[in-house]
Amino acid sequence: MASRVIPVKPFDLVIFGGTGDLALRKIIPSLYRRFLAGQMPPQARVIGAARRDLDTEAYRRMALSALEEFVAEEKRDPEKIAAFIEMLSYIRLDARGETGWNELAEALREGVIRVFYFSVGPGLFADLARRLVKHRLNDADSRVVVEKPFGHDLESARALNAVLAKCFDEHHIYRIDHYLGKETVQNLMVVRFANTLFEPLWNAQYVDHIQITVAETVGVAGRGEYYDRAGAMRDMVQNHMMQLLCLIAMEPPSLFEADAVRDEKLKVIRALDPVPPENIVRGQYARKGDIPSYREDVGNPESTTESFIAMEVHVSNWRWSGTPFYLRTGKRLKARVSEIAVIFKEPPHSIFGRRLPNHAGNMLVIRLQPNEGMVLNVTIKEPGPGGMRLMEVPLDMSFAEALGENGADIPDAYERLIMDVIRGNQTLFMRGDEVEAAWAWADPIIAGWEERGDEPLPYEPFGSGPEDALMLMHRSGRRWREISDEL
Ligand code: NAD
Repeated sequence: MASRVIPVKPFDLVIFGGTGDLALRKIIPSLYRRFLAGQMPPQARVIGAARRDLDTEAYRRMALSALEEFVAEEKRDPEKIAAFIEMLSYIRLDARGETGWNELAEALREGVIRVFYFSVGPGLFADLARRLVKHRLNDADSRVVVEKPFGHDLESARALNAVLAKCFDEHHIYRIDHYLGKETVQNLMVVRFANTLFEPLWNAQYVDHIQITVAETVGVAGRGEYYDRAGAMRDMVQNHMMQLLCLIAMEPPSLFEADAVRDEKLKVIRALDPVPPENIVRGQYARKGDIPSYREDVGNPESTTESFIAMEVHVSNWRWSGTPFYLRTGKRLKARVSEIAVIFKEPPHSIFGRRLPNHAGNMLVIRLQPNEGMVLNVTIKEPGPGGMRLMEVPLDMSFAEALGENGADIPDAYERLIMDVIRGNQTLFMRGDEVEAAWAWADPIIAGWEERGDEPLPYEPFGSGPEDALMLMHRSGRRWREISDEL
């Protein structure tokens, strides 16, 4: 199955922070893969702009070694790489000073799309925005891409939005949440809104509950300083998990168009109930053998930041009233897995007698990683004589299998998102009011922990988190899905 690639229009993409980890690990390799796919036009230019004293040659060498490290071997075509590298250049520039801005102004061409990618710490966003305006580098068709974290709380997110709003129109601002660039996440909308099968059942009448899990095996070593100030709530729940929840819970937008989709997501966030303390379990991984504890990893023996959180959340609207959403995320858990499970209710009456104790009923599992795909569990008769025994079997659709070659080659989220920026499509980017609404929901929860001096519960590494997280579901007769990389 050949994929259809439509080249985007010529562009100048400036990566502020072009020598940083994100630029070298994600942005440049993603651009190369789009170049290889024929989507990046030969007239495109990528300008790395950062503080380091480099010239274009040295920057190209840096990019080349990043491609060698972060692009799969079968995709490294020496001729293509050489042609791609030619598109890169470097300007030494200081976001907080005047160095480099005139050179940047000279390097930018007229008549092509300008993209300014803020791949720097959020402390520099305001400086960059002001200098772009001061030097008149942004035009009516420019795009500005900002990375997470978008604020630390409602107040800081508002301040950031206000700075950006002073310099650019909202339709020029692309707030990245890379979860939205994942193929399965987009597929979630197609599965819901392009099939008749699911949408009639997608409500409190037929859905018992929903589980969203983002589990990692890694600890926080290496990002300890940032993480200890954030914790799982700010790092995962307020942004990525909130976005997944919105896509599951939202009403059908009238069109698959940026503001129509974002309006519906915003309504979901605004319909979220405050979460009482008894619906939240926070945890922190303990030491196990040679594996250091969370507190050792972050170098803070008194830290009360959570590396795990499980919560029961309610969306108070007509569609979802009475159907809980269970969110769970953590570091140092059993497996690396991100998935959404929609657990349907039992049929109203069983004509086959009593249910089996472990009968799980119909369940749709949407897997984001690893091996993106979906599974629908259906109940059938266990084969053979011996009466009417029921069993569940999966109707499995791993995208890699279903889509053949193209499925095995699902593009990285950044590839999709960067091309969307150039196409001017904001559907998969967060709008300012969405981000603020998500903070408005998260802030009182965090403030509650601080006021009460809540301590997270210790949990053993490579398990399922604290026992109490299991209780969060057991108390209503439900249970979490096993944290496992098997679908
Ligand atoms: P990094 O520390 O590796 O890189 C920072 C870059 O900013 C460097 O190129 C540096 O030269 C440049 N810089 C610093 N001060 C500057 C100044 N005054 N003027 C011009 N350039 C300056 O950071 P990173 O990991 O690449 O992250 C960049 C942003 O992306 C951050 O906001 C981060 O939170 C976000 N982010 C990163 C990742 C990731 O995987 N690395 C993932 C999601 C979000």
